[in-house]
Amino acid sequence: MRKVWRPVKGVKFCDLNTEFTLVEFEDTRDKIKVMREGPWLFDKHLVLLKEFDGRLQIGKIELVHAPFWVRLHDLPLMACNEYIGRLVGGALGEVLEVDLDKAEMEWGEYMRVKVLINIFKPLLRRKRMIVEDGVSCWVHFSYERLPDLCFHCGILGHTLKECEAIDANQVDSQRLP
Ligand SMILES: [Zn+2]
Repeated sequence: MRKVWRPVKGVKFCDLNTEFTLVEFEDTRDKIKVMREGPWLFDKHLVLLKEFDGRLQIGKIELVHAPFWVRLHDLPLMACNEYIGRLVGGALGEVLEVDLDKAEMEWGEYMRVKVLINIFKPLLRRKRMIVEDGVSCWVHFSYERLPDLCFHCGILGHTLKECEAIDANQVDSQRLP
């Protein structure tokens, strides 16, 4: 992770078990930057960060939500503002930030919002939005730095081939020309 994070000062890693690793940053500014820019990928696996809480036992540590930068595609041009970003992003989870400093070139293509997402629930790919009386449109979502995502059940951490929610016959019939 050091190569990806490129911290100014030192970082120490200590594996607590197979799931959790304790990360110590020598400089708080490095920690803030790494926490803010996450989640990260390591060898195609999702790396989630959580503030250290020394009172917890290791078995009690829970990681259910992760902040993701989500791109909102196909928004009506008039809807590219913070209010709409929070409203539409709110359909995915708690909105932490709306990126309004995007380069001018990208304006109109998509809007970025940082959302706290429940990683155990299927990820929403699109949502219908009412623009004006009776007029609606589909807004599409794409997730930045997304690791393996199953396109059958929409849940992170496994691919379509490894999905347990899909039965073998279904996969076979999908392979037929
Ligand atoms: Zn699946």
